[in-house]
Amino acid sequence: MRIFVYPGSFDPVTNGHLDIIDRASRICDKLVVAVLVNRSKTPVFSMEERISFLEEILAGRPNIQVLPFSGLLVDFMREQKATTVIKGLRAVSDFEYEFQMALLNKNLNPEIETLFMMTSINYSYLSSSAVRELACYGGNIRDLVPEAIVDRIYSKFKAR
Ligand code: ADP
Repeated sequence: MRIFVYPGSFDPVTNGHLDIIDRASRICDKLVVAVLVNRSKTPVFSMEERISFLEEILAGRPNIQVLPFSGLLVDFMREQKATTVIKGLRAVSDFEYEFQMALLNKNLNPEIETLFMMTSINYSYLSSSAVRELACYGGNIRDLVPEAIVDRIYSKFKAR
């Protein structure tokens, strides 16, 4: 059984993430979408919100599981019996950080592979921070995130 882990903060999940999730889930037996708990910056959406967005959108996809994760990725991978980390790459700017993380993880556990998946051209400009920025100022996010969560994203910023 080939288990892949796709880690991220998903603050909030975007169509760019979903594209990677779709494509990654087709090349493994099970994909664990791992939602980061401890990040240096405080997320706008709580862990519960980020997980429930993903679960709702990915409902009915039996080979995809959404789980919270904190601590070292290599430990989480071991717990999940996962072999491969999936990462999306948008631009050169993603590369340096991801390159470092991949090598660090390789050093911690040589058995773990990091697989990079190139963004689809339509999503190359898309990030969670862009969605947050747009939503905060009432910009249009309808083509950037799944329809089901659009209103909840706007409400979050209205409430703040
Ligand atoms: P963001 O960088 O948008 O805040 P995350 O930290 O949640 O998102 O990213 C999780 C993973 O998803 C990372 O590997 C990141 O490179 C990838 N990713 C994010 N947005 C896209 C996109 N539009 N296309 C491809 N990969 C993406």
